[in-house]
Amino acid sequence: MIKKFIRKILGVKSARPSNEPVVLGAKDHGIDPRMVSNNAIRVTSTLQEAGFEAFVVGGAVRDLLLGVKPKDFDVATNATPEQVKRLFRRAFIIGRRFQIVHVMFGQDLLEVTTFRGTATDNAPKDEHGRVLRDNTFGSQAEDAERRDFTINAMYYNPATQEVLDYHGGIEDIRAKTLRIIGQPEARYREDPVRMLRVVRFAAKLKFSIERSTAEPIGVMAPLIDNVPAARVFDEMLKLLTSGQALACLQQLRKEGLHHGLLPMLDVVLEQPMGTKFVTLALDSTDKRVMAGKTVSPGFLFASLLWHQVLEKWQAYQAAGELPIPALHLAADEVLDSQTEKLAIQRKIGSDMRDIWAMQPRFERRNGKNPYKLLEHLRFRAGYDFLLLRCASGEIDRELGDWWTAFYEADETVRAELVSVASSGGKKKKAAPRRGSRAAAQDDVPADAPTDADEGDESDDDEFLNPPAEGEAPARKRRRRPRRGRRSGGGNAPAGDA
Ligand code: ATP
Ligand code: MG
Repeated sequence: MIKKFIRKILGVKSARPSNEPVVLGAKDHGIDPRMVSNNAIRVTSTLQEAGFEAFVVGGAVRDLLLGVKPKDFDVATNATPEQVKRLFRRAFIIGRRFQIVHVMFGQDLLEVTTFRGTATDNAPKDEHGRVLRDNTFGSQAEDAERRDFTINAMYYNPATQEVLDYHGGIEDIRAKTLRIIGQPEARYREDPVRMLRVVRFAAKLKFSIERSTAEPIGVMAPLIDNVPAARVFDEMLKLLTSGQALACLQQLRKEGLHHGLLPMLDVVLEQPMGTKFVTLALDSTDKRVMAGKTVSPGFLFASLLWHQVLEKWQAYQAAGELPIPALHLAADEVLDSQTEKLAIQRKIGSDMRDIWAMQPRFERRNGKNPYKLLEHLRFRAGYDFLLLRCASGEIDRELGDWWTAFYEADETVRAELVSVASSGGKKKKAAPRRGSRAAAQDDVPADAPTDADEGDESDDDEFLNPPAEGEAPARKRRRRPRRGRRSGGGNAPAGDA
């Protein structure tokens, strides 16, 4: 009855059987066709000309309806992956959990998915009911039923400009509501990642979560533990780079999804010392995303975990370790503890180490040290990180200001800056603020030889450039650094890094 009424208001012609979509024409949905990417139109029209059905689907339709330019376009079709591949010059079948086709036009990548069936009853599952493999093809109605939220289950045909809506997505878009399709508990059990997704969409779109969609989350949250770490990582990365990272994390907390679930979230949301630092880091990330700039995942995760690293760095030094090896050990430990749940990709992990490892080097402003650091491949990331540390009050602003001046100066001014710093005319080292954990370095003068100075400089480089895949990872070799000399033995077994 209510549905019929709403359909009438929306100008939809008549009520339809439940497996038939509501069809909205251009004037009913108001999508601006100029917002649809040319490549998406190329893909749908090529498929349609070959006799297949093809639609823009999912997040892109949702965003178009909200008047937001979609960041990427997914296409759904009744063509099989093989049939899709044959129609495009640069198309690749990607198959893990589901088989999809990546169609490339220059740098632009479109994901083309064959309509999926709903036969999850017979699909293999783990002992908690999570669907492990599920690659049956189906009708468009079935495909819609397997999607996560009503607002993500609409299909847009650029040729006719019609939107097909199977689950009342358009009503939910207008009411700014997130509603899971089907029975919430069953859907979360099939794929617990949907709990993280609903939180991300709620925060990003500023939608509310419908009651029965939100209710089971608190109780079912521990099921996320059984999801492969790589998938959790992908979803967390989407969350943190959504442009609403802070809001997302607050929403996670509100839904009871943070505690004991992901070590990273516990760290981020519960560290007393680092709140300001993390808030600043996320805020600047959000601003970059909003301004259409790229975000480095390594920088982001390095920021989120920095205060945990600081704490351990201090503890290792208190136990008698020299600052540089202590920092390496702290980095290893933090990365190891996160990797269990979040498969931090190798490249991202190595970026994080680089950023952390550069930090004590910023304090060495004498001789050639600052020039060498300036040449570091990731200097800019390390320097931005240093500025965050200053802004959060962890270390004295003077150090950040000195580096800004040095970074921006010409050769003559640089030489003067170094000479002032070297002659002791200025404070050479960041004076840690009262109560700051950086106080741990108090007993090390900026230009006192560290273990890295005593050995050759390449020691640092070993840390900064982890070994290639298959080699024994540097961290294993660094497990037990000796005083005054970094251990360089390479006989540790190869492991994951
Ligand atoms: P974003 O704007 O963040 O990319 P999105 O909705 O496009 O949002 P994707 O992860 O790109 O999110 O997924 C594309 C579509 O695939 C979704 O809109 C949804 O229809 C479907 N989908 C993705 N993940 C799931 C899932 N875990 N369960 C069911 N459907 C899903
Ligand atoms: Mg998407």
